[in-house]
Amino acid sequence: MIYERTIRRPVECNGIGLHSGAPVRLRIRPAGAGSGIVFRRVDLDGFEVEAVSRNVAKVSYATSLMKKGVLISTTEHLLSAFIGMGVDNAVVELDNLEVPILDGSALPFIQMISDAGLRQQRRKRTYLKILRPCEISEGNKFIGVYPAERYSVSYAIDFPHPLIGSEHFQVELSNGSYVKDVAAARTFGFLEQQRALLHMGLIRGASRENCVVLTREGLDNPPLRFADEFVRHKVLDLIGDLALFGKRILGYVKADRAGHALHTAIVSRILRDQSHAEEITLSEAAIADWPAEHLAVAD
Ligand SMILES: [Zn+2]
Repeated sequence: MIYERTIRRPVECNGIGLHSGAPVRLRIRPAGAGSGIVFRRVDLDGFEVEAVSRNVAKVSYATSLMKKGVLISTTEHLLSAFIGMGVDNAVVELDNLEVPILDGSALPFIQMISDAGLRQQRRKRTYLKILRPCEISEGNKFIGVYPAERYSVSYAIDFPHPLIGSEHFQVELSNGSYVKDVAAARTFGFLEQQRALLHMGLIRGASRENCVVLTREGLDNPPLRFADEFVRHKVLDLIGDLALFGKRILGYVKADRAGHALHTAIVSRILRDQSHAEEITLSEAAIADWPAEHLAVAD
């Protein structure tokens, strides 16, 4: 909790991008203290794009980063896994423009990070402590970030579909419940929107193996992993987008029918105005009553 962490050894996998459909090799490497999460395009002379708010480019059906015209697409599930596992520093190498979708959840990334192992670093982790409420509404969409001792998020969705309807889910990020309750929740999509999205150049890599496919009445590829898998996936996405603070936050985040655009907008608003948050480190005493993170750091 107090010190930064990276992974112990490089790990890699192959997959395809959800939207591009492009094949991609992903390698995650250990990185030095204070370096954060940095994407590296090995197909473009190792050009680096830091996973921070100022590099956010496009946010519609996924969150993409861009720096000097170099794109890193669909970053949210991997960044979510790093937050869930307490990884502060890593280099993420890609040989194409999009992070692989794998099974549509963060679980394969959690497994890769577990396989790599975690290493505690000497530098104290800097948290972004939220000092006052910040809220954004857009029609019936809402997101708010509030002061709190620890990091937690809650999400509400309401889709007019027999399997979804109103769902609400809340998770605390410091007690290991991310891995148990959030990481396995998959991306979902509506079959009746498939054609329109393909026309927009999206979901070229989508399949029954990497997303929950909803038909008009039910599910094309059962079973669900959780009865409320949909809202849990929104929580997963939100945590991944909030990773673009570049730091872990101490605060409570409440979202209602939000999406990538609102998630990233509130990060940028909070970072723009210094009265919203301050950077702090924590002492042993400050976290004495926190539940232990689920993975012991073997040193
Ligand atoms: Zn997602």
